[in-house]
Amino acid sequence: MKIARFSHGGSIDYGIVDEDALVVLAGDPLFAGFDTTGERVPLGKVGSLLAPVIPRSKVVAVGKNYREHAAEMGGDAPEEPLLFLKPNTAVIGLGDPIVIPPQSERVDFEGELAVVIGKIARNVSEADAAGHIFGYTVANDVTARDLQEKDGQWTRAKGFDTFCPLGPVIETELAPDAVLRTRLNGELKQEAPISDMVHDIPSIIAYASSVFTLLPGDVILTGTPSGIGRMTAGDTVEVEIDGVGSLVNPVRAAK
Ligand code: MG
Repeated sequence: MKIARFSHGGSIDYGIVDEDALVVLAGDPLFAGFDTTGERVPLGKVGSLLAPVIPRSKVVAVGKNYREHAAEMGGDAPEEPLLFLKPNTAVIGLGDPIVIPPQSERVDFEGELAVVIGKIARNVSEADAAGHIFGYTVANDVTARDLQEKDGQWTRAKGFDTFCPLGPVIETELAPDAVLRTRLNGELKQEAPISDMVHDIPSIIAYASSVFTLLPGDVILTGTPSGIGRMTAGDTVEVEIDGVGSLVNPVRAAK
């Protein structure tokens, strides 16, 4: 099942994708379940798809979680998940521009699978992790690479406004062998099965929830495969995951 968040007649609603229409939900399905209003909105009449979730408290991200990406960054994959946070103010949706900040001369794409938490998770075991997942979406962990190196820690480099595109929808099912692809101006840059992750989703949830409580609507970015690269103003970047969707964003300079 695919769930969209969209602008609709001056309000923001949620809907289940049903062929060429959205079945409108009565409330946010993370908190209000899947009761419908009975209304169907043709996809052609949807104002715009919005980021499918705005995390209430945090975006948790895992660094260097694919071996070949760790190698291209000049090291091995960490033995334990390497966690950092992105602010929820970095989140944008499908089609929203990624803005290159004036402080950086090297802003990179990082295509990633995102996990949306559905139930409060604190000290969850790997065996119980799946029960705390609401669904999956596509993310771009946009990174000011020069500032990441300069600062020595990652808050600024990962935290600019527009540096966390999410979307286009939340898919509640995920094939374990789904392939992630990133294209820059249509050219394939990253391609790897999500099964190449060093730390899998249950182990990330178990590890992260041993540090801080995960709340419904929190999002976990699970790391990027090799092939990261620079984006500049005028580019278009697409991250696609089989069965989940395609997240396309233009890139522009700050005004
Ligand atoms: Mg990343």
